Amino acid sequence: MNKFDINPDQAGNFGNYGGQVLPPAIATIMNEIDAEYEKIKVDSEFLAEMDSLRRDFIGRPSPIYFCKKLSAKLGGARIFLKREDLNHTGAHKINHCIGEALLAKKMGKTKIIAETGAGQHGVALATAAALVGLPCEIFMGEVDIAKQAPNVTRMKILGAKVVPVGRGLKTLKEAVDAALEYFLSDPQNIFYAIGSVVGPHPFPKMVRDFQRIVGDEAREQFQKAQGKLPNKVIACVGGGSNAIGIFSAFLEDESVEIIGVEPAGRGLKVGDHAATLTFGSPGNIHGMHTYLLQDAAGEPSPVYSIASGLDYPGIGPQHSFLKDSGRVNYATATDDEVLAAFRELSQVEGIIPALESAHALAYAFKIAPQNAGQDFLINLSGRGDKDIDFVVEKVGEKFFE
Ligand SMILES: *Cc1c(COP(=O)(O)O)cnc(C)c1O
Repeated sequence: MNKFDINPDQAGNFGNYGGQVLPPAIATIMNEIDAEYEKIKVDSEFLAEMDSLRRDFIGRPSPIYFCKKLSAKLGGARIFLKREDLNHTGAHKINHCIGEALLAKKMGKTKIIAETGAGQHGVALATAAALVGLPCEIFMGEVDIAKQAPNVTRMKILGAKVVPVGRGLKTLKEAVDAALEYFLSDPQNIFYAIGSVVGPHPFPKMVRDFQRIVGDEAREQFQKAQGKLPNKVIACVGGGSNAIGIFSAFLEDESVEIIGVEPAGRGLKVGDHAATLTFGSPGNIHGMHTYLLQDAAGEPSPVYSIASGLDYPGIGPQHSFLKDSGRVNYATATDDEVLAAFRELSQVEGIIPALESAHALAYAFKIAPQNAGQDFLINLSGRGDKDIDFVVEKVGEKFFE
């Protein structure tokens, strides 16, 4: 273990970031969750159950796919994809949802709740709740409900209750606020399954550990198939769970450049992007200390991204640590670049990516021509089926030309 592959300290801090910015009563509940998590994570029965569900329910290991045609077309770096889009429910989020649902069940909680942006976390959690047999409620902004109708139906079919959130910008941040408030009404019995590596300790650590399977698999698969490590590992960053999942396995490999890609949206004005590490500054949000897009009073700024799963003004505290330490570089991709990458992967390789994942693709495609001789490993965090109607509506017939 080197200085970058860290666990947070006792108080949940990754360097200056993380912790529990919470009333003491709630911190106590978080510490109970942490204590139980630390127990099960070394419990052979729990680990065996996770292993078998990963294999038989999620469909792991997900493969690594070499984009031969696309790499030739870009004329530089070779492009490899870690195919989290092939998981059951279509994205990486099922990896941590099953872990959280099993933990909630084990702790005797009577209900599991969450917020969702693109609907992917809601679908993954509703799936995990059905699997372990726990009632489930999902809080979702009304703007996202309108954008992601198929996922709303999926959650209902899976037996979850979808709670619309109509305040503020009616997107992810407000959904988190509403879910937190509901959780605080009965914190003993409700398990709030946070959807990324964000929120108070122990969630940034715990969700990361559940996602680390992505990086552990990918590192071994790549090494075995190519006889070496990739030169760059690239992932999109919303809260940062798919990114930290793949990054974690490579942090000690000094030869590997690691890049997180944030949404530059439709412009650099406040409210037109959600590039937290690129334009934000340290502050407090949702129970943690981390980089934040905020106004002069410390209130979270409005954010926007073409990808619902990325429009969040905060970011996981470990990413804040990795940015300051310089181990990970954070870049951005604009909506236009993202739409072009979405189309390119669909038409050249026959893979429709999630708009979130297309941020990582867009950045990789942009720098590929100057990086001949390099291998890029990109985390394809999810599939784009959920985005097809939105994209065609947005781009119109031009999309098909
Ligand atoms: C939710 C989501 C993301 C963003 O969440 P992270 O925690 O940053 O990974 C990225 N990709 C897909 C497909 C998602 O559903």
